[in-house]
Amino acid sequence: MTKIPFQAESQRLLELMINSIYTHKEIFLRELISNASDAIDKMYYRALTDDNITFNREDYYIHIQPNKEERTLTITDTGIGMSREELENNLGTIAKSGSLAFKKEQEIQDGHDIIGQFGVGFYAAFMIASEVTVTSRSVDETQAYAWTSDGTDGFSINPVDKETIGTTIVLKLKENSEDETYDEYLEEHRLQTIVKKYSDFIGYPITMNVTTQQPKDEESDDMVEVVETQTINSMIPIWRKNKSELTKEDYEQFYQDKRYGFDTPLDHVHISVDGAVRYDSILYIPENVPFDYYSKEFEKGLELYANGVLIMEKCSDLLPDYFSFVKGLVDSEDLSLNISREMLQHDRQLQLIAKNIKSKIKSQLKTMQKNDRERYVTFYESFGRQLKFGVYSDFGMNKKDLEDLLLFYSSHEEKYTSLLEYIDRMPEEQTAIYYATGESVQRIKKLPQTEMVADKGFEILYLTEDIDEFAIKMLENYKEKPFQSVSSADLDFNEDQEETNDDFKELFNKMKEILGNKVSDVRESKRLKSHPVVLAADGEITIEMEKVLQSMPD
Ligand code: ADP
Ligand code: MG
Repeated sequence: MTKIPFQAESQRLLELMINSIYTHKEIFLRELISNASDAIDKMYYRALTDDNITFNREDYYIHIQPNKEERTLTITDTGIGMSREELENNLGTIAKSGSLAFKKEQEIQDGHDIIGQFGVGFYAAFMIASEVTVTSRSVDETQAYAWTSDGTDGFSINPVDKETIGTTIVLKLKENSEDETYDEYLEEHRLQTIVKKYSDFIGYPITMNVTTQQPKDEESDDMVEVVETQTINSMIPIWRKNKSELTKEDYEQFYQDKRYGFDTPLDHVHISVDGAVRYDSILYIPENVPFDYYSKEFEKGLELYANGVLIMEKCSDLLPDYFSFVKGLVDSEDLSLNISREMLQHDRQLQLIAKNIKSKIKSQLKTMQKNDRERYVTFYESFGRQLKFGVYSDFGMNKKDLEDLLLFYSSHEEKYTSLLEYIDRMPEEQTAIYYATGESVQRIKKLPQTEMVADKGFEILYLTEDIDEFAIKMLENYKEKPFQSVSSADLDFNEDQEETNDDFKELFNKMKEILGNKVSDVRESKRLKSHPVVLAADGEITIEMEKVLQSMPD
């Protein structure tokens, strides 16, 4: 038997592949299952044009089987198979994708189901296998062939017997070494977990013979081992189902299954877009702040699937920072992936999806704010801070997107109000949106500054968080109404302007002398009622902001 060497380039590429393209060894299974699924899809496409082939969905499956004694893992599919030439060309040449060629040849317009395109996925098998044997019989032939390689210098191809059309891949697992063990890929449970993680929504059943303990018979307590063939994957992803078929409980169950959080989500959106870019998405607004949310460890992002196959667990490009609390996933057929599938090309499609998602989240939150205020307040108490950071950061670039989502605690009925609600209540003569800052609502209410504004019958927003006033300053105004701090010196209702009484001048000069550079001026005020004196701020920075700025590290 002759051994055909890999081409020199291929050999170097192979080393690179095995050692560096993938970060997780476990993805070898995803790649082999994806290939098997592609091969079955090809049968389906063939059946469309070939009258000799009928395609009954029930006949098609992918079977995986570990064998501990032999240290092998076998993956069998009932797909289109490969001829001798195809084995040589598709598996012997790295970066040659038979699947891509198939899509082109058949001019399949709608071939989005077929996953393969780079011609490297198969080689991931060599990350865990010391020898790989691919036995395949093509739909066009009666003779089957076996392709064998140790992944280092070449491969051999020999005729073998195989009754059925399709492909069987036997992986001889590498021996354990000091820093690496491979035994986990022989464990039924581990294999099930990997399939669930990456390939749960492959459209054909992925089966495995699973050993379970069952009572010997109805009466006895004796347990016996029973082996039964189970389908591991759920095949149809919840996001491809019709919204009308799904209940709130289904979505909550999915949130729990996915371990997006330990809480029950406050709300979800299910999106199916079929336009310039096609995608499905389910997004959740959590109820509770994740324990690590405000730490450096927290990673925002959505799960990203390419056509039902998980390619990234946290795709951060899909969410702006101010919506970093959102959990969920996106599945799209239209992504241009790079070869490792673990990195995406920063492409237009992804940007379009991100933009779309951003506006969906926004409108979902707006609806909640309007229709279910109690729930929205729960949300806001968890994540409002993040929205205010969003207003303030990026030089206020996103402020228009976020201003309607903000709530502030208000003197009106002493509860949260949106800015829109505030200005809707404004009396005609009121020209500004008033706010007061302080450590707590109680303390703000005691401030002399608030008294006069309140006396006018004007509503005041009570800002108690550090970020509040920074966000307000960034907003500048809302629907053309400027924000006005009750403690700023130029706050006047055209009453402070009168000339200071000469009798006081001397007193004020004395006061200034005593206070030195602690104050810039001492003036008469007409806005005090029950308080004898008030500290007023000159210019843009208020006293509260100054406190925050001073407490910040340089
Ligand atoms: P890709 O899937 O990106 O094309 P792979 O390296 O995963 O690249 O596979 C290379 C090629 O080998 C595939 O395009 C396909 O033509 C062929 N192939 C791999 N596995 C199978 C299989 N189970 N059945 C039929 N053909 C296969
Ligand atoms: Mg592939």
